[in-house]
Amino acid sequence: MANYKDYKIATIGSHTALQILKGAKDEGFETICICEKGKDRPYRSYGVADQIIEVDSFRNFFEIEQQLIDQNAIMIPHGSFVAYIGPEKMMDLKMMYYGTKGILEWESDRNMEREWLLKAGIKLPRVFSKPEDIDRPVIIKFHGAHGGKGYFIANTPEEFYAKYKKYEGKKGHEEFAIQEYVVGVPVYTHYFYSRLNDELEVMGFDKRYESNADSIGRVAAKDQVDVGIDTTYTITGNVPIVLRESLLPEIFEMGQRVVDSSKTIVDGGLFGPFCLEGIIDPELNYYVFEISARIVAGTNPYVNGSPYTWLRYNEPMSTGRRLARDIKEAITADKLDKILG
Ligand code: ADP
Repeated sequence: MANYKDYKIATIGSHTALQILKGAKDEGFETICICEKGKDRPYRSYGVADQIIEVDSFRNFFEIEQQLIDQNAIMIPHGSFVAYIGPEKMMDLKMMYYGTKGILEWESDRNMEREWLLKAGIKLPRVFSKPEDIDRPVIIKFHGAHGGKGYFIANTPEEFYAKYKKYEGKKGHEEFAIQEYVVGVPVYTHYFYSRLNDELEVMGFDKRYESNADSIGRVAAKDQVDVGIDTTYTITGNVPIVLRESLLPEIFEMGQRVVDSSKTIVDGGLFGPFCLEGIIDPELNYYVFEISARIVAGTNPYVNGSPYTWLRYNEPMSTGRRLARDIKEAITADKLDKILG
């Protein structure tokens, strides 16, 4: 029987690293945190990293990869890791990596993502192929924008062009998607699917705390107009939520269909943590505008577990810890191939 103590768990210091490293330590692993110079303090202060490797920039990750390989480290990817390395370079990684690399191509391309979710029978907001077609409230999303920065809302083609003027000619703003703006509440569902027991779990839910979308309601409508506030969606944090219980059966079904359909698009399919991000309208339709095929920052409020993981585990179980447990079980059962991509 292989010994999990022969392996270490590594991630880069940002996004969900605190939770991942803490969870790995709770499962008995030694941990490594790769930090940008000057940004290591949280990882030292919270005592989650047994070892810290410093780099000038995460973009230089490949310079230290061999050090990780020499230590038999398994990389846990998160949003910042994917953003810094880039989906294309991901295939060049030589170290052990948790997850299916092939799925990243599907989640990082809006058209492919849409095709996958439609296949899974998920409700999606309508998309408009050109500004002239806008006949209802829409949200404009720039390709490659991170954290919702610069997104804007328009109701007509004229309003679109008036607002787009600000971005015209600016790098990164040539390409955008026009999506129906769904009026309802944002709900992000955190799932975990293990290939070891072929079981899908719902780990919890969150909503994002966005500036200034979440502050606009603090001033009167008249003041919003007078001051000329444009709604933007820059993510600043995450707020935990518990969902109306009667929605749970559908939540499980949706996750299951996403897992099942992923097996038809990439070898091995999706596994580990993933998240459906959407809006629930007053008729309780859940419109999904995005999928993240990895751990999301919305799981961070649950370092000590969520109400849902408490029901299942009776011990603190964050998504980070669940990941480490999956790895531990795979090593112990000599099934590492089930968790490495
Ligand atoms: P990112 O590119 O950062 O993942 P999202 O696509 O998650 O950005 O969108 C950012 C925010 O915009 C969401 O949290 C949500 O509040 C809002 N939003 C996105 N799409 C829609 C939509 N179709 N209808 C209503 N609100 C939306």
